[in-house]
Amino acid sequence: TKVLLTGGSGFIAAHILEQLLAKNHSVVTTVRSEEKASKIREAYPDKASSGALVVVIVPDIAKEDAFDEVVKISGLEVVLHTASPFHFKFKDPKTELIDPAVIGTTSILRAISRSAPGVRRVVVTSSFAAILDESKMTSPSHTFSESSWNPVALQDIHNSPATAYRASKKLAEKAAWDFVSQQQKPSFDLVTINPPMVFGPVVHYLASLDSINTSNERIVACLQGKWREGGGIPDTGAAFIWIDVRDVADAHIKAGLEVPEAGGKRCFTTAGLFSNKQIADVIRKNFPDDASKLPTDETKGGELPDENKRYKFDNSTTTKLLGIKWRSLEESIVDTVKSLKAHGA
Ligand code: NDP
Repeated sequence: TKVLLTGGSGFIAAHILEQLLAKNHSVVTTVRSEEKASKIREAYPDKASSGALVVVIVPDIAKEDAFDEVVKISGLEVVLHTASPFHFKFKDPKTELIDPAVIGTTSILRAISRSAPGVRRVVVTSSFAAILDESKMTSPSHTFSESSWNPVALQDIHNSPATAYRASKKLAEKAAWDFVSQQQKPSFDLVTINPPMVFGPVVHYLASLDSINTSNERIVACLQGKWREGGGIPDTGAAFIWIDVRDVADAHIKAGLEVPEAGGKRCFTTAGLFSNKQIADVIRKNFPDDASKLPTDETKGGELPDENKRYKFDNSTTTKLLGIKWRSLEESIVDTVKSLKAHGA
């Protein structure tokens, strides 16, 4: 199958690319710079020379016509749209987060509906950020599922950087569903993948420790000794559910190419609860040589909130739909640490 994958240089997308090529699909992927494009081509020389892998540059996805030309690929059947900013280093959340997230999503959908009649399915990488509700995170009587929507709105984006990011994901996903529902006769159906915190190994040819992806930052900090000093293990954060990157990649491929019934569904991909304390415990158990840098049994902080002070979640519909056995936290963290060590952590 011929697949268009946006943001092929990303932490998650690099795994999607690897899995797609391993399954002998033909992939056109977009990145922002020639530097990243050549790294990807060099990582798969045979695929690049045979044309099974094509890397194209789309410098700015916040432009309304960003994807107009790219989607005109002959034989294109499936689009996986993962490119969207995930960092907290912005000054202006509207232009740096919301616009690339929302316009990036609507511009690719519009381009497909105009110029890519062969596309039958589009998968958009959304997030648990589009599901959660900041006012219900400590409420044990509340259950988040595939049908939950974050009530966050554009006017909330100056509340905090986390809220701005969550709004970018909610508004982008909402815009995608709205786009499809407004089509008289949509030529493709839509699936969203809604992962919470994603951990997992980094694809070697792209990553460097100082530009590590946002969701693995805490594991780098732990390995560098930052959780042993001062205030102890940092707070886990409001979300405290997670998924392995290889399973998120698999979910995109299943949803896009292998599970027809996924059409029209939101896929809430999570392996369950985690805490920073559990991450530290897994690392200490599996990497005893690092003990001097790691928190000890006694180090305080990073625990899960008590059961009566945290929300519930139910993603059984997604687990059944996609048929993926989610990796365990121990496997994921061990593999993450090995890959970070290979990059000098
Ligand atoms: P990365 O930061 O590694 O990847 C983000 C991707 O989007 C990169 O390819 C990046 O390009 C591209 N991108 C970011 N901003 C822009 C922009 N303004 N214009 C064009 N491209 C842009 O993060 P992830 O792989 O983790 O994120 C991928 C997707 O998954 C995002 O949609 C994110 O919201 C979503 N997600 C991630 C979770 C996580 O915990 N990691 C959880 C839930 C959802 P470049 O390489 O050039 O920077």
